[in-house]
Formats: sequence, C-alpha cells, structure tokens
Amino acid sequence: MDTKKLGFNSKLVHAGDKHDEYGSAVTPIYQTSTFAFKSSQHGADLFAGKEKGYIYTRIGNPTIENLEDKLAELENGYRGIALSSGMAAVSTAYMALLSQGDHIISTAAVYGPSRGVLESHFTKFGVECSFVETSNIENIEKAIQSNTKVLYLETPANPTISLTDIEEASKVAHKHGIVVIVDNTFSTPYLQKPLDLGADVVLHSLTKFINGHADIVGGALIAKEKEIYDKLRKTMTLMGGNMDPHQAYMVIRGVKTLSLRVERSQQSAMKVAQFLENHPKVSWVKYPGLESHPQHALAKKQMSGFGAMISFELKGGYDAGTIVMNNVHLALLAVSLGGVESLIQHPASMPHAGVSKEGREAAGITNGLVRYSVGIEDVDDIINDLKQALDKI
Ligand SMILES: *Cc1c(COP(=O)(O)O)cnc(C)c1O
Repeated sequence: MDTKKLGFNSKLVHAGDKHDEYGSAVTPIYQTSTFAFKSSQHGADLFAGKEKGYIYTRIGNPTIENLEDKLAELENGYRGIALSSGMAAVSTAYMALLSQGDHIISTAAVYGPSRGVLESHFTKFGVECSFVETSNIENIEKAIQSNTKVLYLETPANPTISLTDIEEASKVAHKHGIVVIVDNTFSTPYLQKPLDLGADVVLHSLTKFINGHADIVGGALIAKEKEIYDKLRKTMTLMGGNMDPHQAYMVIRGVKTLSLRVERSQQSAMKVAQFLENHPKVSWVKYPGLESHPQHALAKKQMSGFGAMISFELKGGYDAGTIVMNNVHLALLAVSLGGVESLIQHPASMPHAGVSKEGREAAGITNGLVRYSVGIEDVDDIINDLKQALDKI
C-alpha cells in the first residue's frame, strides 16, 4: 500500500510498517546487531549499494527503518534518521552541517543542552554561535555573517513559549544559503510541519510527545532533500548515535496514538490555561491558544493547534513555587514533557536550582515560573489538583 497518499492518522498507524512472513500485525523487533550475507557477492553488493538490505544495526535495521520511514512521511520529508536521544540528533545535526570557522544562529531560549553543547564543545572546534530572540525576524537578519551556515530554531521555545515564524525566518536564511533546522518537539507534525513551511531539517526529541509514554529516550532528524539527508546519515553512522531496535519498536507503538493524545491534551491545556489566567495567585500565563499570548496570530497561522505546554508565573515567587510543587498530587514533579501523565516543574527550585538568580533571569526563568505539561487525564482532575495546591499558597 502506498501510505504517502493516506491522511495523517492513517500514516501514523501504517506508514513504514514491515509485516513479516507470518503476517505479523506490527513490525517485529529485529533485535540483532548484524545480518548474514547470502554469499560474498551479496555482501559486496550490499556494501556497494547495488542491492537493498541490511548489514549492521548501526548502519540500518528493519525495525529502526520502520520508524524512520514513518516519521519522514509524517513530516513530509525525504527520509528520516532515528537516534539514541534528542541530544544525539542535535549534536549529529551540528556536526554534519558545521565546520571550523562557521557560524550558527540559534533561538536564545532553545532547549538548554542544545545551547550548552555549542558553547562547551563546538566553540572548541572553532564554531561561532549567536543566540538571538528569533521571534523578531530582524534579529536574525542582523546576526547573519558571511560565515553563517545554520539557523537553528525552536518554536514554541521553552520556558517562554515564544514562537518564531518558520516561513519568514526560512526566507531570510535561504537568501544567504543558510540551512534551517527546526526543533519540532513541542508541536509534533500533528500541529506543525516545518518542512512545508520552508525549513530544511526537522529535529525531534522522540522522548516527548512522539513516543508519549515516558518510557523511552530517543531522537530523530528528518531532511527535506537528499543532499542534506546524506550528510546527516553519514555523520550519525560514523559518530554512532544510532537508535536501538527495541527503542524503535516502543516509539512505533507510541506514535500510533499521537493525534488522539495530543488532541485530548491540547483541549485540556486550553481549559487549564484559562483557569490559571483567571486565578488571583497567578500573574501571567503563556499558552499560544490564549488571546493574551503575544504571538497568538502567528500560532494560528503556522500551527493547527496550540499544544499542551503551559508556562505561568506565581505572584508569590520562589516560595509559592515550592508550595505548589509540594502540594500537587496528580501531576508528577518531573522534567521532560509530552507524556500521557501530567508533569509539573518549577525551574528555579528544581532543574535550574544550581544557576544564579541573574543567570536564571537571563534565560527567562523567573522565581515564580512554573511549567506544566498537560497529560490525558480528566481535565477536571487536572484543574482540581492545581486549584487545591494554589489554595495552599
Ligand atoms: C527533551 C528535549 C530535547 C533533548 O532530547 P533528549 O531526548 O532528552 O535527548 C531537545 N529539544 C527539546 C525541545 C526537548 O524538549
């Protein structure tokens, strides 16, 4: 069946599937490191690319390939690459597309380690980086240098939930021959398709909404064209950031319900955001679906829904944040996001506790900031849980 002609939900279920000789309903886990050649000639033909097949799991494996093909179809890309983690995808993309003396422009509020690995490792190899507020396209234009090779966008970005116009940013970048990478972890292809909007590469932490069950870590890169795909694939194979077949099987299982999960979560997220916006102990709420969000119009233009991630600020600051953390019962106090279970975190007292107040504020992490990843539980339970915790302040 040519799944490319099917709708998004049908692709989620069927794209890339490999049924075995027994008629398996799902792609089996090919838990093998290596594949035997039928003859020396067969081995030679596989290595020369004259025949299609598998050689060694770091290079390719049927279960992993199923996931890669599914993700490529969902993002309308040329082909996909599955990796061991979202950070393996990030570092592989940087390694493939940047050389000594090159310059990269990145969204300032990008996922912390995506910025950290540039500052701590890529600068060692002579790569220059600029971190700018990409919500304002002029900032991107101003940051472009003659050696700029990559524009790296995250939208919506954490924890400010600020958006970047992918179409406009890509136009500016392409005028200068700059490759555009978009981290689509928060939106997933169900809500936003960066390649259709002009980006060259889409990146995912599969750990989050795509797998959706908080039981696996994984990453992916999907390229729009063969040339960039080949560079990414070669780098992944040489650097060794490949996914494992069992991990791929789990993600294939998880992603089949992506639309159902995201749909339920975002319907609840809208209600949770409205509840918080009207709460006297909350000073502001950032959610792209609220009219008060500064980029609500852009969200409506480039996303088909507003997602399940909410940031809000407690009037009571740091202490109020710890009170809420210690009194929620339904939401789990945890980093990560995008699972069926609601997760809550207070960056100032938890993941960024070791960072100075000045450093936190430069990253948009105020003392009363709380981030909530809305799960698929009953929305009344989610709201009641938050309400009774807020009442304790
Ligand atoms: C979690 C995350 C990553 C990193 O992914 P891992 O799977 O944890 O390595 C990258 N980008 C975003 C937006 C994330 O949320």
